[in-house]
Amino acid sequence: MSSKPTIVPRPPTLDECHSGIPDNLLSPALQVKARLAGNQDLTPHERKELPVVPLGHTREEFMRAVSELAHILGQQNIEINDKPLDDGWYIEHPNTHDAFNLLDPEDTVSSAAVYPGSVEEVQAVVRWANKFRIPIFPISIGRNLGYGGAAPRVRGSVIVDLGRRMNRVLDIDPDNCTCLVEPGVTFYALYEAIQKRGFKHLWIDVPDLGGGSVIGNTLDRGVGYTPYGDHYAMHSGMEVVLPQGQLVRTGMGALPNNNTWQTFPYGFGPYYDGIFTQSNFGIVTKMGMTLMPNPGGHESFMYTFEKEEDLPEIVEIIRPLRIGNILENVAQLKHVIQEVAALGKPRSAWVRPGESLKDSIKRVAKELPCGDCTWVYYGTCYGPPELRNARLKLIHEAFTKISGARKIDHRGLPPDHYFWSRDRICSGVPDIQELNWLNWVPNGAHVFFSPICPIRGEDATRLLAIAKKWHEAHNLDCFPAFCVGLREMHLIINVVYNRGCKESRHSAYRCMRGMIQEAAGYGYGEYRTHLLFQDQVSRTYSWNDCALMGLHNTVKDCLDPNGILAPGRQGIWPSSYRDNGWELTCDDTEVDGEENRLSEGDAVARTRKTVDVKL
Ligand code: ADP
Repeated sequence: MSSKPTIVPRPPTLDECHSGIPDNLLSPALQVKARLAGNQDLTPHERKELPVVPLGHTREEFMRAVSELAHILGQQNIEINDKPLDDGWYIEHPNTHDAFNLLDPEDTVSSAAVYPGSVEEVQAVVRWANKFRIPIFPISIGRNLGYGGAAPRVRGSVIVDLGRRMNRVLDIDPDNCTCLVEPGVTFYALYEAIQKRGFKHLWIDVPDLGGGSVIGNTLDRGVGYTPYGDHYAMHSGMEVVLPQGQLVRTGMGALPNNNTWQTFPYGFGPYYDGIFTQSNFGIVTKMGMTLMPNPGGHESFMYTFEKEEDLPEIVEIIRPLRIGNILENVAQLKHVIQEVAALGKPRSAWVRPGESLKDSIKRVAKELPCGDCTWVYYGTCYGPPELRNARLKLIHEAFTKISGARKIDHRGLPPDHYFWSRDRICSGVPDIQELNWLNWVPNGAHVFFSPICPIRGEDATRLLAIAKKWHEAHNLDCFPAFCVGLREMHLIINVVYNRGCKESRHSAYRCMRGMIQEAAGYGYGEYRTHLLFQDQVSRTYSWNDCALMGLHNTVKDCLDPNGILAPGRQGIWPSSYRDNGWELTCDDTEVDGEENRLSEGDAVARTRKTVDVKL
């Protein structure tokens, strides 16, 4: 692989494509793209016998069904997935498979993508799927990287790519600070729309990267980093196409001529919005989101802590500050390895022959603004200076109780330091720099391990020990970050692997299985997980003889009797698939065995299921 700068074609901008990059991020995006391309040696995967069709259909039947849909949507709005699978990169990502495949890209591959242009067309697609019993999988943008990307769980599903033709910002209300969007509106696009309309007093809340959609991220219960970071909590109102084609609006949206759909989320009667998140119960075609009024200023800050053993004390200090809202946004405590990875160079650029990773990181960190430390805290205070300064003082007093804690003077940090990327994100300005750590290994890919635990020192220590154990067992570097919400903490670990190397992919897969299972034994459950682990994680939520899954199954069977909508997503299977060998659970990996061997045959057999299923 070349270490020389690579010349790459420029990615599309927002003006050219709904999922493009805003003009002002074009230059950093090109740098990120070039760096990734220089650290990659994969070519598109060649394939045979295409398209892959859903189980229970012949290729001829499938193509006949597709031509019927082409009559409704127009031939140009259907694309058969019969080309080599190209992983692309973040901005030019595929809607055919998981670009960060952990097994084989052919395992969770689609048969086709369709591009509805209206709610009526989404309804038509759903009715078509029911008529032919063809599984469909909705995506908004399909950039859910680390959680499965655009891939469907059932091989040969038809991707309903909502973003391409349904990407309007339908409303921005500058007085009530709300908006109403369609599925294809990315955080980049919403930010630009607000700037274009001159609403400088409105902030949006963005995740680490701004290329995902507001709807897709909220439905997967993603988070951002301003005080409005809990996206689901901040949304108001949905419009949903149900699996048999009925159209509903939730909350005040059910009242004709209402004027409060985006300001009062509950409406009257049972409140359904939650069942359309992390589920396969409906396709969301519109959603309202509240926007944060510009608080009158902000100041980001960075503290470092010397020792790994400082972790419990830091966490104990964070808890009352966070619950008391002195720390106003999701508090982020990252391991120093991420300071090094954020520089965008591969591991091999830092680790000298014969030197341990720990020693290399120590040596490199000494030369960085963070200095020789183990933990780095990034936070932001909001409001006019007098409000911010009062909080900053309390935070400083609390953090510096820890011996060796140091506040880094951000005024001296170079403009390309990661601090400034955090500063932008924590003030609602979308960015792209976060991708830099993907270069840690060649053909960099990642999968997230994201368990929830109490904001308590002993839990943080235990979870970290579990993660480190499984990373060491599989020869993977561990990138922990604790993200502290109001009364809980997510440990987010990017398991970074080389997707061009089967052994590396399998290590990541086995490491994930092991961490999920062991963490669950201590009562730590994932808040979100990659498609391939959703069966396993859903089974860890097993209280009272899996009563919760029983309820999911009841709802699924009622709303989607033909089982066409995203079968298997979130571990929820329609009755025609359920307990019929589709579930990918922990028994495809000997997690406790000495060898920790992945029985690939088993995993592949399930994703490519060949037994007869009555659909
Ligand atoms: P993003 O827009 O952030 O890239 P994705 O489009 O990858 O997000 O979607 C994330 C997850 O949410 C996927 O599993 C997808 O099936 C689901 N999803 C996305 N958009 C919708 C939608 N409009 N209706 C129902 N489910 C959706």
